[in-house]
Amino acid sequence: MGESNKLKIPKIKKGTVIDHIDAGYALSIMDIIGLGETQNLMTIGVNIESKKYGKKDIIKVENVFLTETQIQQISIITPNVSISLIEDFNVIEKLRLKLPKMIKKLIKCPNSTCISNSEKEPIGSEFNVLNEKPLKIQCIYCDRILNLDELVFIEKKREKRIKQRIQL
Ligand SMILES: [Zn+2]
Repeated sequence: MGESNKLKIPKIKKGTVIDHIDAGYALSIMDIIGLGETQNLMTIGVNIESKKYGKKDIIKVENVFLTETQIQQISIITPNVSISLIEDFNVIEKLRLKLPKMIKKLIKCPNSTCISNSEKEPIGSEFNVLNEKPLKIQCIYCDRILNLDELVFIEKKREKRIKQRIQL
């Protein structure tokens, strides 16, 4: 492959690189973790050819470092992502994400009668991960099973639903 065929995504001086995102999920991630509202420079690559992983997406965003909750949300949407923290164009830390076996207080159970939705006795939602790909999780309180497209993330401000995977 000639140099001219290689996709060049500019390096960032300081910020975060989210790499090895499952192809087509970059926009879902942006939306769920709220990057869609950032004023910072952001580069998104979708369906990038990768020798190791087939196709993948990548997000680079300047001057933004992710919170623990954002990192957990990403690991649910697309496990096996790597997150690099950049300072002065150098990687100062690299995190390899893994989907946890239990997902606590991040996802809303769609069953309105589930005890995790009770207003009288607030109790955090809790899901067991049954399968990673395709994602299947089960509420430990009411046994409801959800797949990736049905997830609703709990947010302080508002609830966020996974957008349809983009098809190019
Ligand atoms: Zn439930």
